[in-house]
Amino acid sequence: MAAARASRLSLNRRQWLSASAAVAVSGSTLLAQEPKAQQPKRPANLLEFAGGQAAGGGAVGAVGDCKDCGGLGFLPLKNRKPYFHVEGQPLPKAADAVPHRYCPTCQAGKDDKDLVAEQTERFKTALDGHQKWEKETGFNLLRVETRHVEVHGQFPLPEAIKIGQAFESLAAHLQSLTGTMELTQTRPESYEIVALLEKPAMEHFRTVLEKIYTVEKLGEHWGLTKGVPAVDGFPLPFFYQTAADTKNRPYAHGICFLGGRKQVRVATNERAPRWLQEGFAEYCEFAGMKANLWRTVYNENPPPPLGSWAQQVRQLALAKQLRSWPEQMKRELRDYDARDYLQTFGMVAFLLQSDPQKFLALTRKLRTGLAEEKALEESYAMAIPALEAACVKWLAAGK
Ligand SMILES: [Zn+2]
Repeated sequence: MAAARASRLSLNRRQWLSASAAVAVSGSTLLAQEPKAQQPKRPANLLEFAGGQAAGGGAVGAVGDCKDCGGLGFLPLKNRKPYFHVEGQPLPKAADAVPHRYCPTCQAGKDDKDLVAEQTERFKTALDGHQKWEKETGFNLLRVETRHVEVHGQFPLPEAIKIGQAFESLAAHLQSLTGTMELTQTRPESYEIVALLEKPAMEHFRTVLEKIYTVEKLGEHWGLTKGVPAVDGFPLPFFYQTAADTKNRPYAHGICFLGGRKQVRVATNERAPRWLQEGFAEYCEFAGMKANLWRTVYNENPPPPLGSWAQQVRQLALAKQLRSWPEQMKRELRDYDARDYLQTFGMVAFLLQSDPQKFLALTRKLRTGLAEEKALEESYAMAIPALEAACVKWLAAGK
């Protein structure tokens, strides 16, 4: 009886693992302790949970046809300086919090001073959401905002500072690489993440969400995410780590991974295939924190060794051990092993860094609903086999 129940629980966990957009952290023993269980059937639409739940969380607006700004109407700041603010620290100047400038091509005549006024206005209510979470949870949360995310967390000041620095440096990287705001479209007033300390806080936060939203609203996979260390869905991503975890894995890793993945989802209007989402999240964690400690966990396969996945994927490329792209693109996340995580990282690093403008073209084509193979081939003006060969060469060279 007890055994039967245990196996049913494990199957439930597994159904969730194959179906949801939740993430677990590398090094977590949660999954390693699970017995082997039968693979459940793939749900009809893997993207349903991720796409259906989290749409609209911070997108600035529809992409028009201005070539300079991708139709957003904004470009990265000139002489961009890092900006973040941790609750309790001296109040920032509104001008420092401005995330972008008007695109001179399609927004000629607009005045950047209005963007400062917008921030002055935003500051007036910027703490409201934070105070609401404190009231609803009964937790004393520390708030940190950057130009692109608001984080409420049970962490001390040094962790908040790391988050601010890491996410700002990630945003600066994506903006200077592409020359646009297309991969940093979220804003702190509409994109937030909750970062908790220890499992009971996670359990409590779930009950708070259940009180505010109906279980139907939280989504069909809500019940299956119970017990996992990180959930990324409606109404916001939330995760916990233990005090012991935090010694080796600052909260900023999770913020860069989740917040980074959100950027490619917004840029593609939730149409990024899962390999692209996973690789982009890993890339963002690496860009922000210079090490890979997170991945989306769907099985108990051992992760790649933690650290620089850039180095590890280079070794795979040199040893000619990478999968063919058509094969890799078909791989289900529930089957991912160490090599898959490294390869998706490598593919995104290559696509984004070897030609950032073509990467933007790829995200624009995906958002129109074009199939991924066609979107890749048209954006990079290369057939998939040629693109794959160029990627292996690029990775092997260790750029
Ligand atoms: Zn423009």
